[in-house]
Amino acid sequence: DVVVVGSVNADLVVGVERRPGPGETVLGADLATHPGGKGANQAVAAARLGARAALVGRVGDDGHGRLLRASLAAAGVDLAHLATTPGAPTGVALITVGPDGDNSIIVSPGANARVGPDDVAAARAAITAASVVSCQLEVPLPAVAAAARLGAEAGARVVLNLSPPALVPDDLLARCDPLVVNEHEAAFLLGPDGPRDPAAMAEALRRRGPRSVVVTLGADGALVAAGPEPVRVPSPRVAAVDTTGAGDAFTAALCLRLARGDALPDAARYAARAGAAAVRAPGAQGSFPAPGDLPGP
Ligand code: ADP
Repeated sequence: DVVVVGSVNADLVVGVERRPGPGETVLGADLATHPGGKGANQAVAAARLGARAALVGRVGDDGHGRLLRASLAAAGVDLAHLATTPGAPTGVALITVGPDGDNSIIVSPGANARVGPDDVAAARAAITAASVVSCQLEVPLPAVAAAARLGAEAGARVVLNLSPPALVPDDLLARCDPLVVNEHEAAFLLGPDGPRDPAAMAEALRRRGPRSVVVTLGADGALVAAGPEPVRVPSPRVAAVDTTGAGDAFTAALCLRLARGDALPDAARYAARAGAAAVRAPGAQGSFPAPGDLPGP
């Protein structure tokens, strides 16, 4: 169904009263270690919703790598193309959470930085057989570009989540169907003089070349630009506990439904329910819904 090409990180989370300045030490709460990384999150979220999902990526030969493999395997993700890089650490995100729930994050890509076009070539059979190839930008651009090219040439639908935001070549943008961005990523692509109204943002992004665009709007749902007029998709109202992973759950659910043949607005309506489900519980992968957990439309 869905092949995800992307990152695998251990999220190392410590609660603090305040952040240390240069040269300073502060004491924090107990360390929590969670499986994360946008690629792994999307693969887990898609599998939990019932997709056949495979992940193309890299971990290190270390405890974090084994933790991530275990969580991916438990969700039923196909790990035939998850390679181990000897001598490189598994990617980590060092996360401090302040008293107001505000995050500061340092990502050390580790093995993710070694994902390249060779890894895409090694996964050729899986990528060319996929209905949907899903990429984000936590692995190097040459790998993303190679996966999008291979997938598109084989007739797969290419979904690119522009996260973390970065400029990408026009030929990659042109293969996206859809390009998925939140408001910050949309604003990054459109620049300081770009539109701020979500519908205008979606239209302006579409003129950059992607075949379709989805702008996610947090509690306000999403905007889909695929036909002549942008379509607004609502999100169910839920009590938000922790929005970590909402975008990953949204994109994964979108990929699943596109793989099953939904039109983009219908897939986005389903995805908004998955995104909303993911904000009801703390963390990323632990909050991802099974089909029975989805809030009503
Ligand atoms: P990201 O996590 O990438 O910043 P968003 O915050 O836009 O992306 O969230 C992605 C999707 O998750 C939204 O389109 C929406 O469906 C759902 N979502 C996020 N936050 C909430 C919320 N507070 N209430 C309901 N749904 C939400």
